[in-house]
Amino acid sequence: MQNDFKKIEDKGENTSKQTTMSLLKRTLKQVYHKELPLDHLVFLYTAFAGIFMAIFGLGYNIANDLGIFTLPVLSLYLVSTVSCVFYSIVKNRWYGAAVIVLGSSAFILIPFLWFTIGGVTGSTPPMMFTAGICIAIVFKGTLRTVMLVADTIMLVVFIALEYHFPDIVIPYATRFDQYSDMAFGLTMSFMVNTILVYTVMGQYVRVRDEKTRLVHRLEILSLTDSLTGLYNRRFLSASIDEEMRHAYDTGAHLTLCILDIDHFKVINDTYGHDYGDEVLFNIAQIMKASLTGGEIFGRYGGEEFVVLFPGKTPREALPKVRALADYIRSHGWTHGKPVTISGGLSSYVKGISYSGFIEAADKNLYRAKREGRDRIIYR
Ligand code: GH3
Ligand code: MG
Ligand code: MG
Repeated sequence: MQNDFKKIEDKGENTSKQTTMSLLKRTLKQVYHKELPLDHLVFLYTAFAGIFMAIFGLGYNIANDLGIFTLPVLSLYLVSTVSCVFYSIVKNRWYGAAVIVLGSSAFILIPFLWFTIGGVTGSTPPMMFTAGICIAIVFKGTLRTVMLVADTIMLVVFIALEYHFPDIVIPYATRFDQYSDMAFGLTMSFMVNTILVYTVMGQYVRVRDEKTRLVHRLEILSLTDSLTGLYNRRFLSASIDEEMRHAYDTGAHLTLCILDIDHFKVINDTYGHDYGDEVLFNIAQIMKASLTGGEIFGRYGGEEFVVLFPGKTPREALPKVRALADYIRSHGWTHGKPVTISGGLSSYVKGISYSGFIEAADKNLYRAKREGRDRIIYR
């Protein structure tokens, strides 16, 4: 029995270890593929750079035997930064960790390195700039302002302090030490700045492309009918308007046709609403297959369709509409009966209004219905 408990405990421990490891792996993968939000990503960059710098600082200070404070300060920074990174990964909450990591980097690690490694002519000033950029990216509002102002004041104060009390800074032992440290500091800062810039640009481009894709998708959604995939009334109204303007300007022909399914209510009532939808969908497919001559067409309302024939007279358009009606009638409908449509045409004449153009087609559609349906009329 006790053994069983132990097994369960072991298993639990194992799972939590695995979870931490897999979370760590997942985060590294997200950092590599830049899948995290920009501020979160830059927090992790700063933490990694801080860890790297602290290890370097520790090595340098130990090698040069520079004072009793070095070891505890840098070790404390390392432990707190590593803990914060782990905390943010395991708990999936990073903002508080970012405040501690960036705060201690800008206001503890950098000042400490400033005074222990070369002062204003050392490797720390460029890192201070980089820390400022990181703060500007990661934080928002008052916290950002306060931190940046504090950073600026600190920079000026440090320079002034060093000017008035040169002994406050531990100097380099040799020229080689100074230049190798500057090479490290400048290269490190240059690299981090470059990574920051291309990360920001990458995110900007990604967000811009995503926005373009969404706008395009939204445009399609707002202009098409979800059941049939045809253009909707909004698009058709705009097209009629545009084509009328074009016909007015150029004197080109323009024919409008309104189609309406005959006794569609009966189809719905007899075979169900879903079957009615299927009929609408199939009619749309037939329209797509048969209207291939530059016509603009779509679903104008419930069971009404509109076809615009730019550049065509009603005489030229009529055979095409009749052919479409024939295709629809002779389609192999599941319910075993033909589906028929009625239609009315109108021709654009200069000076006709939008509603006049529609009404003329509607009147002919009404005639077609009254005269027995299953016909297309232009009078
Ligand atoms: P008419 O020959 O005079 O045009 O008769 P009708 O039955 O086709 O005309 P009516 O206006 O009486 O009925 C139209 C029907 O179309 C009623 C409505 O429920 C149906 N309808 C409208 N939109 C849809 C839809 O999206 N799906 C389905 N299944 N039916 C629809
Ligand atoms: Mg109708
Ligand atoms: Mg109808």
